[in-house]
Amino acid sequence: RFAYVNGRYVRHKEAAVHIEDRGYQFADGIYEVCEVRHGALVDTTRHLDRLDRSLSELQIASPMPRASLVAVMREVVRRNRVRDGMIYIQVSRGVAPRDHLFPPQGTPPALVITARSSSPAKAAKTAEAGVNVITLPDNRWERVDIKSVSLLPNVLAKEAARKAGAKEAWFVDSDGYVTEGSSTNAWIVTAEGALVTRPAEHGILRGITRTAVLDLARREGITVEERPFTVEEAYRAREAFITAATTLVMPVVRIDDHAIGNGKPGSIATELRQRFHEVVETMPV
Ligand code: PLP
Repeated sequence: RFAYVNGRYVRHKEAAVHIEDRGYQFADGIYEVCEVRHGALVDTTRHLDRLDRSLSELQIASPMPRASLVAVMREVVRRNRVRDGMIYIQVSRGVAPRDHLFPPQGTPPALVITARSSSPAKAAKTAEAGVNVITLPDNRWERVDIKSVSLLPNVLAKEAARKAGAKEAWFVDSDGYVTEGSSTNAWIVTAEGALVTRPAEHGILRGITRTAVLDLARREGITVEERPFTVEEAYRAREAFITAATTLVMPVVRIDDHAIGNGKPGSIATELRQRFHEVVETMPV
């Protein structure tokens, strides 16, 4: 395997960043994860638009022009022979002697890109069974709209989920409303068949998969309600599911101690999963 690290393609097991990289010291950096499917990059424009937004919100310079970045992404996918899997892009504020203040103007941002394969067959099996979710208080900072590498609450939540026999943890705000999963957006389907997900304006990351699923649902004539929903409403929902570039649409069959619907993946979640790739842009490698 190979990784791209600050201008060079290096063997994955030897790939390293400097100890004074601000990503390492302060979590002062951002990232993106794109799906690779059938040898093509999925929804690249939206992912790179969000990468640009994250950089600009944190006043980190762009590491290179978009066309060059796409060329490196393709090369990393090619060198790792990834047909189905994911590509990871991380940009930090660069390397400088440790100091909370931004480093001097002109300090180049650090760029790392890796890619790895995953098994669509295994994911399909997981989706057929559905996954369990637990709920936890949302103890993250307010700027979760930025895809920052500062993910400690998310790491702790995911581990708590694993210990409870679940795949994901849903964060819940102080008013009892679900914000999102530790690495996914959260959705329910009401008894009337309406799709409900929290508005992206506050409390969540604007998931690229979320945007594509909203497009797809509207195209299919499914009623969409972008509004917050409580944990209680989720317990009583007809269906629930999560979305992310790596998991796509993944049915949820249990939330805490409550079976969702009949305890099996719902029909709307299953259909959205099957049709997802009909609405996304793909860029062959
Ligand atoms: N919410 C959080 C906190 C995430 O970390 C992620 C993805 O990693 C998502 C939502 C889903 O975003 P996307 O669909 O762009 O992968």
